[in-house]
Amino acid sequence: MSKIRSMSLTTRIMIGMILGVAVGFLFQAIVIGEEKFIIPPGLLSVPIKSFLVDGLFHIGGQIFIASLKMLVVPLVFVSLVSGTCSLSDPKKLGSLGGKSIGLYLITTGVAITVAMTLAILISPGDGVELPTNASFDAKEAPTLAQVIINMFPTNPIDAMASGNMLQVIVFSLLFGIAMALSGKAGNRVAAVFEDLNTIILKLVTLLMNVAPYGVFCLMAKLFTTIQVELILSLAKYFAVVVAALAIHAFVNYSILLKLFTGLNPIIFLKKMKHTCLFGFSTSSSSATMPITLETATKKLGVNNSVASFTIPLGATINMDGTAIMQGVATVFIAQVYNVDLALSDYLMVVLTATLASVGTAGVPGVGLIMLAMVLNQVGLPVEGISIIIGVDRLLDMIRTAVNVTGDCMVTCVVAKSEGQLDEQTFNDPDAAKDLEDYHKSTE
Ligand code: ASP
Repeated sequence: MSKIRSMSLTTRIMIGMILGVAVGFLFQAIVIGEEKFIIPPGLLSVPIKSFLVDGLFHIGGQIFIASLKMLVVPLVFVSLVSGTCSLSDPKKLGSLGGKSIGLYLITTGVAITVAMTLAILISPGDGVELPTNASFDAKEAPTLAQVIINMFPTNPIDAMASGNMLQVIVFSLLFGIAMALSGKAGNRVAAVFEDLNTIILKLVTLLMNVAPYGVFCLMAKLFTTIQVELILSLAKYFAVVVAALAIHAFVNYSILLKLFTGLNPIIFLKKMKHTCLFGFSTSSSSATMPITLETATKKLGVNNSVASFTIPLGATINMDGTAIMQGVATVFIAQVYNVDLALSDYLMVVLTATLASVGTAGVPGVGLIMLAMVLNQVGLPVEGISIIIGVDRLLDMIRTAVNVTGDCMVTCVVAKSEGQLDEQTFNDPDAAKDLEDYHKSTE
C-alpha cells in the first residue's frame, strides 16, 4: 500500500486507468464465456452488472465527474475576477483577448487542414459499405450571431447556474475590471477573492487525490461496452484520426511553441501528462478545466492573470482535436457516399468547423453535433455520422486530451508574449511536485 502511495499521482491515475480497462474487458470475456456455455449463463454477468458495473463503478465514476464539474463555475469566477483585477493595466485585456482568440482559431484551422490532408492521402472511406438504414438525429447548431449575442448574460446568477461558460467569463471580466477601478473598496474585495482562490485551488488538489479511483470506475464501466470489432471494422478511419491527433499534439504544437516562445516542447509535453489523463478519462475539456488551470499556473509557470482567462476560454472555444475528427470524418463520409468535394468545399469545412468550435461546449460527444453542422454546410448526408458513431466514444477521449493540450500551448504563447511566464517554473521538472505529493505530506 505504502508503495502505491509513494508513486506519483500521474502513475497512480495511469494504473487506475489500465486496471479499469482490464476489468471492463474481463467483464466482456465473462459475457462471451456465458454465451458459449463455458460458464453457466447469467451466473457471473448478472451480479457483476448490477452490483459493480451499474452499481459501484457507475456511482464512483459519476461522483468523480460531478465533483470536477462542481468546481468549474466557482473556479472560473473567482480566479478570473482576481486575475483580471491583478492586471496592472485593464486595457491589456484587449491584447490578451485578441491574441488568445486569434491563436485558438489559427491552431484549429491548422488542425483541420492537417486532418483533411491526411484523410485525402490515405482515403479511409474507400471500400467501406454504405449503410442501408442509416439515420442520425442532428440537433440544431447555433449561428455565429447567436453565439456572439449569447455571450452577454442578462442574469449572471442564471449563467452560473446553467454553467454557460462564455457568459460567466464575460461577467467575471467586467466584475474584475470594475474592481480594479474601484480604489480601496476594490482592494478590500480583491483580497477576499485571492483567499477564495487559494481555497478553491486546495479543493482541486484534494480532489486530485481520489482521481485514480474515479478514473478506474469510469474506465471499468465504459470498457464493458466498447466493442473492439466495431473499431476493427473502421480501423482505417480510426487510425487516420489518431495519426492526425498525434501529429498535431506532438509536431504542430512543438513547432508552434518553439517558434513563438523558444521554450522546450519536450518539457511542455511531459508536464501535460496528467492533464491529458484527466481529459482522456472524463472526455470533457470543461470538467478537466480545474486541472488544466493548475497545470498552467503551477507546472508551466503561467501567471494567473493570463491563465485564468485563456484556460476557461480555451476549454470553451478551442477544440483542435474535435476539429481533426471532423476533418477526417467529412472526407471519410464523402468517400463512402462517393461525393467529390471541390477545393471550395474543403475551405468551407475548415471555416465552418473552426467557427463551430467557438459555439459548442467542451462536453462529451459534442463534436458529433458540430460535425452535423459541417456536413450540412457542404451538402453531405448527415446520416453518414451513424457509420462512425460506434467508434466515436473512444476517439472523443483521445481528442479531448489534445483539446486540453492545445489550451495550455496557446496559454504559454500568450503568457510569454505578455511577459507573464515564469521560465524557471516552466523548466523545473519538479515544479508543483508538492501538488502531486499533497496526499503523502498529510499522512
Ligand atoms: N469531448 C470534447 C471536449 O470536451 C468535445 C468533443 O469533441 O466532443 O473537448
